Amino acid sequence: MAPIKGASKAKRIKWGDLNDKNNTNWIQNNLSWTFQKMFREGNDTMKVYDINPYVEVYKYSDNMYGLWNPSLGSGGDVWQYLIIGPEKAMLIDTAFGLGDQKGLVSQLTGNMPVIVVNTHLGSDHSLGNVLWDKVYCHEYEVDNIKTVVKPGAWDRFNNEYVEYDLKDLPEYKDYELIGVPDGHIFNLGGDYDIELFWTAGHAAGHAMFIDKKGRNLIAGDDVISDRIGCGGGPKKGMFYQEYCNLTSYRDRLKILCTRLDEFDYVFSGHFANNLENSVLLNILEALNDVIDDPKRYTYIEESVSSTGAKSVAYYKQVKGLGRIRYSENGVYPSKA
Ligand SMILES: [Zn+2]
Repeated sequence: MAPIKGASKAKRIKWGDLNDKNNTNWIQNNLSWTFQKMFREGNDTMKVYDINPYVEVYKYSDNMYGLWNPSLGSGGDVWQYLIIGPEKAMLIDTAFGLGDQKGLVSQLTGNMPVIVVNTHLGSDHSLGNVLWDKVYCHEYEVDNIKTVVKPGAWDRFNNEYVEYDLKDLPEYKDYELIGVPDGHIFNLGGDYDIELFWTAGHAAGHAMFIDKKGRNLIAGDDVISDRIGCGGGPKKGMFYQEYCNLTSYRDRLKILCTRLDEFDYVFSGHFANNLENSVLLNILEALNDVIDDPKRYTYIEESVSSTGAKSVAYYKQVKGLGRIRYSENGVYPSKA
């Protein structure tokens, strides 16, 4: 695929291997790649600020920005979103914490107070938490994020895949992580409210954020134009892991789909964004189909680990978007 000429100071040296069956290293599908190439090379609103040259800033509306951050691993460059209300701003996800994130956000908001939230525990979404004093997430994700954002969390990063200054990674610092229940409202001043909507699936406490004024849904990793990993099943060491399955996500998505009149566009944690809200109906349809019968997958991938253990990954196509990945024990709720 044609290389992407991004404006970020971070330069990608190589992508993960498409044939790596462990799925730890992978490059994007054609749809996501094409989106990123056209978007990053051709969007007139894109700006890189001196204060943080790693982040490409895209303006979606008068009060909403997408902050493109390089993945520091084999792939999966990640979006943060910044919504500016009358009195406060909200920053959704904190990426890896590369560069001066706080300085960039204060430049974009004109030094407004910022409410910082996480969609879920993924290190590409939460490691930058240490740059802030206080971060909110869904109540089921607090202990999970604590297992990720901890001293030494950045030790594994090197310049194997991406060129950047390792000195620009943060160091661990204590901060306050606050869990809130499903439906929690964050007020950005006046009647500008943003609601946390718990979705489970990709992570036990995975949350989306409904911006009713801006009419957008910030969807994290439960809506992705490449591969939605919402059917992983119980994960060792994860709190509330009984919610990491297709059924838990489907049950929540079904409720969200009754509220499509509250937002028009959907913004994902990775790759294509600004999707029409009907994409949620397509995901719901695919989920319903495999929950009815897990054998209604589109294709499977078999792999053998270094210890000789065989595993099967199931993929279900989502109309117009990508695919859902699930495992045999990731369809219905179960304990590990
Ligand atoms: Zn992610």
